Amino acid sequence: MKNILKLLLSAATLAFSPFASAALNVFACEPEWGALAQELGGDHVTVYVATSALQDPHQIQAKPSLLAQARRADLVVCTGAELEIGWLPIVLRQSGNSAVQPGKPGYFEAANYVQKLEIPTRLDRAEGDVHAAGNPHIQTDPRNIGRVATALVQRLADIDPAGAAYYQARYRDFAPRWETAIKRWEQQAAPLKGVTVVVQHKGFPYLEHWLGLREVAALEPKPGVEPTSAHLTEVLEQLQREPAKMILRAAYSDDRASEWLAGRAKIPAVALPYTVGGNDKAKDLFSLFDETVQQLLGALK
Ligand SMILES: [Zn+2]
Repeated sequence: MKNILKLLLSAATLAFSPFASAALNVFACEPEWGALAQELGGDHVTVYVATSALQDPHQIQAKPSLLAQARRADLVVCTGAELEIGWLPIVLRQSGNSAVQPGKPGYFEAANYVQKLEIPTRLDRAEGDVHAAGNPHIQTDPRNIGRVATALVQRLADIDPAGAAYYQARYRDFAPRWETAIKRWEQQAAPLKGVTVVVQHKGFPYLEHWLGLREVAALEPKPGVEPTSAHLTEVLEQLQREPAKMILRAAYSDDRASEWLAGRAKIPAVALPYTVGGNDKAKDLFSLFDETVQQLLGALK
């Protein structure tokens, strides 16, 4: 059955190849990297995004549609740092595409280009879903996006030398606009410095580090473990001694635990878009951070 599927797929590829454009096929694991690849690649790339903002990137099924997309990819752009460890290795292995395997130029891990936070001093599975390489949720700090852009434009030029000048021109257009936007967000976010927050999942250390937010508790008793009522009660008691200003969760997270706590602690629960497409306003990388900063400021009032 698998072989028949393979034959059919390769036949389809052959049949359509005369009409295929010369664009690079980019397979992005998460929406933020898809958006960045599009910013830098323009009409020289065709971007497929494997997950949506409403899906937990830790927990994705290695579906046949993902295999088919990985098979035709020239470049895979993912977070790395073990974020996709539950599904990407299977997708890549079963794709049979040698160009995009780890270690090849067609495989790009964004987390390799930023300084990671929360690197565990000892690895113990009993501590929950902890990643040896450090916290993988790097996209909540726009300075990280800028660092990844610098590395990604180089990689695009390496695997498509004919398009190198085009990619570099697009980067030279993007980078200063991004720097200017970061300065604007930092000015707007100044009142957030030192603000105490509760997080649902340990998914915000880079945002906290960037804006000076102070995390006092997490709703998950351990990373990747669903909140329990016993743990939520503990957090509520803790907040009575050490109040927090707001509760943060990602757009994809179940809202019950944070809404439960919000009602009892009388503080707002904020569903941040977390990536491009996380709400109607977060349409691209720029509006993602416009919206993130506005939501945080709104919750402070
Ligand atoms: Zn996580």
